[in-house]
Amino acid sequence: MMGHMARRCGAVVVPLWLASMAAAVANPADAVAKAEAEQAAAPPVVQPAPNVGSWHVREVGGVEYLPLEDLRSFYKLMVLQPKGRRVVGQRILGNGEVSLTFGPAPRELRIQERLCILSHPVLEDSSGDLLVAKVDVLQLIEPVLRPTYIANRSAVRTVVIDPAHGGHDTGTVTPYVREADVALVVATKLGAELKKLGFEVVYTQEQNQYQSPQARVDTTNAAPAAIFVSLHLNSGRSDVKGAQTYTLAPAGKNEKPMPGHEFSQSSMALAMALQSSLVEKAGAEDGGCRRAHYSLLNSLRCPAVMVEMGYATNPEEGTRLASEEYQIKLARALAAGVEAFARVMNPGTALQVQKAPVVETPPPPPVKVDPAPTKKTQPARNTQQRQKAPRRRATPARKKPAPKKPAPAPKRNNKRRR
Ligand SMILES: [Zn+2]
Repeated sequence: MMGHMARRCGAVVVPLWLASMAAAVANPADAVAKAEAEQAAAPPVVQPAPNVGSWHVREVGGVEYLPLEDLRSFYKLMVLQPKGRRVVGQRILGNGEVSLTFGPAPRELRIQERLCILSHPVLEDSSGDLLVAKVDVLQLIEPVLRPTYIANRSAVRTVVIDPAHGGHDTGTVTPYVREADVALVVATKLGAELKKLGFEVVYTQEQNQYQSPQARVDTTNAAPAAIFVSLHLNSGRSDVKGAQTYTLAPAGKNEKPMPGHEFSQSSMALAMALQSSLVEKAGAEDGGCRRAHYSLLNSLRCPAVMVEMGYATNPEEGTRLASEEYQIKLARALAAGVEAFARVMNPGTALQVQKAPVVETPPPPPVKVDPAPTKKTQPARNTQQRQKAPRRRATPARKKPAPKKPAPAPKRNNKRRR
């Protein structure tokens, strides 16, 4: 459908999954706490120096930041701050078709109207310029604004659907709804929709059976050209509601990148496609695209997201989640989101999109998440290479049979636990 095609505007190719719609804001989730016990750790490793071209990177508190001005000029956006709309701490960049709204909370970014929670707060320097963490630019903003530049981009054939919990593990149970039940029903409906669209569908479980995280990882990593979509319901205060979509949080400065980090960009694009579709097609409240340290996502060798479809603990949303009518809406919206994502990940489709008037600016440097040493590339040359031969960026891990699972890492306490 045309509605999911990407289009070009200014220096930015904006996928229409970002069609604007009023957003509602939910409070931060606490559902991730359940996964804390599973968190994996890795020995510290010194990251290679980033190749940032002409960007003015500065380090603040151990985090690399870029001035907003670099971002503005790179994407050829203007500072938009219409009179009367100014909110303290808020800054809007845009070009009439795409807008990035930073603030008012330090970790809030809205791309069009879609809420994203940044990994690091936006800072303000002494001259009043805002600073945005480089990792948020490269792994959140860039893949959403220009998905055709995503590292490891390759066609999607298989969707691994993970109905969370199962068997003795019921997930969240409230007077309104049971998490495992809804996850399984939506998963089944989603699978049927995806098959109609021509995708292969693999379930991590389909009989309300408990599967260990490792079994889910093994099933996923054995699937060819796959993406992973895990379905959950959230829990929290009774007044909190909204759908949220999580991707693996970026590796910290002293953390060893995990296999899942190789797919940071594509996972974020997938998250945005699903989250936007949930809001626009199912009418879900927008709780935003977020990052979390889920050990399950650490080990997956494909684009992977966890969708918290809503709060089981909110009377209104919990009741809605229990209704078959809404479950069908959720399944259809998720299928549409997968389809939108698959379109831009398809190298053939992406090439057509990129062919039109030349993109004037080089892409930012590729995200270095592979611990193996790689050669530096110049951003300008990189653009040319990517435009001429985007197909060469194959994903070795997904062309081969299931790679060996990584050794389980020791437990640890994580600073960014939620
Ligand atoms: Zn869950």
